[in-house]
Amino acid sequence: MRWAFIGASTIAGEWMVAAVRSAGDEVVVVVSGDLARARAFANSHGIAHAAADEAALASLGVDAIYISSTNEKHEASVLHAASLGLHVLCEKPLATSLAAAQRMVQACARAGVVMGTNHHLRHNSAHRQMRDKIQQGALGRLVSARVNHSVYLPAHLQGWRLKDKGAGGGVVLDIAVHNADSLAFLLGEYPTEVVAMTSNSGMAEGMEDNAMSVWRFPSGLTAFTHQGFNTPFADVGLEVHGTQGSLKGVGILHQGPDGRLDFKNAQGEQALPLDQVDLYSRGVQNFHRAIQGLPHDMADGQAGVRSLAVALAVLESAQTGRSVAVQYPG
Ligand code: NDP
Repeated sequence: MRWAFIGASTIAGEWMVAAVRSAGDEVVVVVSGDLARARAFANSHGIAHAAADEAALASLGVDAIYISSTNEKHEASVLHAASLGLHVLCEKPLATSLAAAQRMVQACARAGVVMGTNHHLRHNSAHRQMRDKIQQGALGRLVSARVNHSVYLPAHLQGWRLKDKGAGGGVVLDIAVHNADSLAFLLGEYPTEVVAMTSNSGMAEGMEDNAMSVWRFPSGLTAFTHQGFNTPFADVGLEVHGTQGSLKGVGILHQGPDGRLDFKNAQGEQALPLDQVDLYSRGVQNFHRAIQGLPHDMADGQAGVRSLAVALAVLESAQTGRSVAVQYPG
């Protein structure tokens, strides 16, 4: 498959060029708002074409588009790709508003192209084992979950995420969407209600760099989620607890296939074996399966809309001091 990359971004350079190539695909062109940046990116990654305008896509025989520009720019690129009949893999959060995210999904549906949201964590083997154990009933009745997803934003990423609200900055849009997708993948349900508090520790300008929230799910399960940009020494992890057993994953919320997963019940505690498959490569493989009409684990466009709906509800709750019912469009 031949791909166009929109955004000469960090994630594209660090992970997605390699992920696409690992599936036997080719990155044909990179598009940046700045032609010099596009050329530099193309040179350093061995990409044949660089452009400052998406108009270049029409003549390059592209099949799919990967969008990793800042979040407020995703919509225009998705609508353009859909108009060209290209399959779309878009970064999270899909957009900065639910209405925009819905327009993106609708445009892809009308064009008959596949739309994926690049929620990579569901491709970590720990997530898959947790989902399987839960589905097998090994935990009994599920009662609670905890997501510790507070990290330290590395210096080279301390730009728009901390300074530009219009680009979708702030830790909630950046990380709560991942937590919503991970929990939905494991539990098979999305929260109906959230209550949240956010704070600013001085890293971000005019927005939150720390957020804690509690989410209530239709089954009655409650989940605590912590997302932060400001904790250099905190471990990340995800736990799910039931009446018959608990799953505890530590370090399983990174970009690489790191971490450890333990299962504990009345018989004792055991570490579950994890594979080391690259999460983003597995994501691209699942995108292929979706295009081929095969069963897949890709987060589709609607999953991206739903994870965004949860994050926006978290922000609303923090702003209003009230519990907020999550609004899922459609
Ligand atoms: P970057 O800040 O690296 O890139 C975003 C855009 O900023 C680029 O497309 C580029 O615009 C511009 N830019 C980048 N570097 C420079 C620079 N040195 N000077 C000027 N402009 C620059 O963002 P990320 O890679 O961190 O994130 C991009 C998207 O990917 C976001 O939607 C984010 O949420 C998502 N993301 C997803 C992850 C995941 O695991 N799924 C992980 C990390 C990010 P242009 O292309 O026009 O030059």
